[in-house]
Amino acid sequence: MNWENNVRRVVPYVAGEQPQNPKVIKLNTNECPYPPSPKVTEALRGYDTDNLRKYPDMNITPLVNALAEFHGISPERIFVGIGSDDVLSMAFMTFFNSNKPILFPDVTYSFYDVWADLYKIPYECQPLDEGFNIVKTDYFKENGGIVIANPNAPTAILAKVSDLEEIIQANPNSVVIIDEAYIDFAIEVKDSCLPLIDKYDNLLVTRTFSKSRSMAGMRIGYACGSEKLIKYLNDVKFSFNSYTLSTPAILAGAASVKDNDYFVSTCNKVRATRTRIFQELQRLGFEETVSHTNFLFAAHEKVPARQIFDALKENGIYVRHWNKPRIDNFLRITVGTDEEMDTLVAFLKRYL
Ligand SMILES: *Cc1c(COP(=O)(O)O)cnc(C)c1O
Repeated sequence: MNWENNVRRVVPYVAGEQPQNPKVIKLNTNECPYPPSPKVTEALRGYDTDNLRKYPDMNITPLVNALAEFHGISPERIFVGIGSDDVLSMAFMTFFNSNKPILFPDVTYSFYDVWADLYKIPYECQPLDEGFNIVKTDYFKENGGIVIANPNAPTAILAKVSDLEEIIQANPNSVVIIDEAYIDFAIEVKDSCLPLIDKYDNLLVTRTFSKSRSMAGMRIGYACGSEKLIKYLNDVKFSFNSYTLSTPAILAGAASVKDNDYFVSTCNKVRATRTRIFQELQRLGFEETVSHTNFLFAAHEKVPARQIFDALKENGIYVRHWNKPRIDNFLRITVGTDEEMDTLVAFLKRYL
């Protein structure tokens, strides 16, 4: 007998590095290069720390209400968690409780298989086509649930809402999760599956404050769905950890949601830089997917991705590279400020 035989062993998710050196140009974890809304700063500056002695509002009311107003849906259809990783992890635990495999693409957010392993959920990866597009018919078979990131990471590709709707429609017996971590960087509002929650009670759409709202350090994410789905999620949450978001996070999150002008202008700035750098990289011999996110997914026609990755890193520019089949010649480059991106392009011009 050995206690180690009873350990729940997992191979953990590997996040992008967070270097301590402030001089590093960090284009490796899809953070927003701009600060959060000044309203967030105000909310945190004005916060009376005497209140920290009390537990937070376990229903996260001010933030849930702000989100309900923002999306024009009732508060009962919103679940908030500590980043969308927490929301997704809770959703896996709550809804993927069958012996049938859950389905997700072979190239996607690399946390999905980690949660599946952690919760002992069987899964089957469905290969994206050659252009990294979802093959919808792959999801028309029996399954224990479906999770699709749209736009997808790390490919940056946006799937059509009509294709995703067909998948949702074909699966009334499973919960379908659409992870919209990057949807705010898509061009049009109609690119989101969120309106479909009115039509399908088995659809859960997740969002995050980490990218488009510049609040990765605050850890806020949420999901929208039918009242039934949200009720089941809350039942599991309250059986796991009642007090998730801290009081300052709840207030800061609500302040961000209420400042829509700032949010829209930040997303527009990122999109403008994305368009410009997409062309610069193209001129340098990179092949890229069409990005609907705050990052570019690029492979150079001659120089291997790992080599470029190492050279960039040596020069204080961090991007992301995976030694994985199909994507090992690609770099994922977060869209930073114009100045940061110019430094990147200038280096590549010298190096390539
Ligand atoms: C960043 C990201 C998340 C998680 O973000 P949080 O910081 O936990 O809110 C979830 N899904 C995808 C696809 C992401 O890229």
